[in-house]
Amino acid sequence: MKYLAPIVLIVLIFACKTPQQWTGQGPIEVVPTTDRPIENQPYQDFDLGDGFFISNKMEGGRLNDAVRINDSLVEVKILPENQPINSSPWYAFKVWSEQEKQMWIRLTYPTTGFHRYYPKINKRGLYYKKLDSAAFHPHPKILEDGSERIEFAEAKVWVGPDTLWIAAQDFAGTQYVERWKAKILEHNFVEKIQIGLSKEGRPLEVLKIGKADDQKMLMAISLQHPPEIPGFLALKSFVETLCEDSPEAREFRSKYNLYVMPMMNPDGVARGHWRHNVGGVDTNRDWVNFNQPEPKALAEFMEKKVRDTDGKFVFAADFHATWEDIFYTINEDLEGNHPGLIPKLIRRSTRKIPGYEPNIRPSDRMERGVTSSSYFFFVHGAEAMTFEVGDNTPRNLIRLKGETTARELMRILNKN
Ligand SMILES: [Zn+2]
Repeated sequence: MKYLAPIVLIVLIFACKTPQQWTGQGPIEVVPTTDRPIENQPYQDFDLGDGFFISNKMEGGRLNDAVRINDSLVEVKILPENQPINSSPWYAFKVWSEQEKQMWIRLTYPTTGFHRYYPKINKRGLYYKKLDSAAFHPHPKILEDGSERIEFAEAKVWVGPDTLWIAAQDFAGTQYVERWKAKILEHNFVEKIQIGLSKEGRPLEVLKIGKADDQKMLMAISLQHPPEIPGFLALKSFVETLCEDSPEAREFRSKYNLYVMPMMNPDGVARGHWRHNVGGVDTNRDWVNFNQPEPKALAEFMEKKVRDTDGKFVFAADFHATWEDIFYTINEDLEGNHPGLIPKLIRRSTRKIPGYEPNIRPSDRMERGVTSSSYFFFVHGAEAMTFEVGDNTPRNLIRLKGETTARELMRILNKN
């Protein structure tokens, strides 16, 4: 029986992979964005007996309870910061044991209830890798409407006195982004600008890349939603390509300045939130009312830039992660500062990836909405898109997508 569940899941996954493309999320609801209370997760080491410990005391940590079921199984509860919330059940914690042993960890999600992110493990404190598939047991459940969800999942780990980190994605906490920013800042054409503070006082920082005169600017952001690390990985590769020492990148940086805010929601990332900031709000629904400091600071920064320089934003991308790769674009009947740029860019950049069929979802809307992408387009005229990669998109494909997007963008914009 133990082996039946994964087989059923694999069959179902393949059954779902018909040529029909994923249609993406439904219409975006307008929700209030004034502060809502969040539940603080108590940080603690859980002593589970026999010298076995589990702990959420880490940046990005998320684990709300842990109990020992038997000799070789512990059950953990993963809860969101508040509700209602999109089901992006982030988890991150660490385990250790006085004696070397094998332990099953059952991941449960009592409130909104299903498992989503395949476990990644990390033995050295730096790089996470996927848990071996033989060590992962998903428990699927068929819902009333016939769809399937993984209700809970078990991960088998070898533990010993050295700490083992377990997380929902390739890293946890804010340090990875900070290290990357420091590396990018080594280039002499990059500078860091603090544009404000988050609710908990973390600096909100933008990198300015380029030596141009700010007449033509670009914007790229990621991590509005803390678990969406694959989106950050796409932004990372996009930015690294624009920082290359190549003739086209040098030309690009002499004509355009790219502004990058890789971590839009540092409090949420640090606290291991599923989606919201410390105001308990999805910041990507706050780009009209600006009740939250993070979108507000970036909008004020951009608007001041435009006022001070008389320049304009020609392009903007907000990088996210969701179930599968998809590009959400602005209604194609609308024209901004560089009409046709986004469809052309997606077409050309994805053509460079053998066998890759882009899933593009232009908006039906003719008027401004509540998301960042809508703000970039309707307020600034920036040709904008939400660049979504899949939770499980292979990391080398994510890298390639970020890279080809940057290369084609340079090719198109350098001509102007
Ligand atoms: Zn997102």
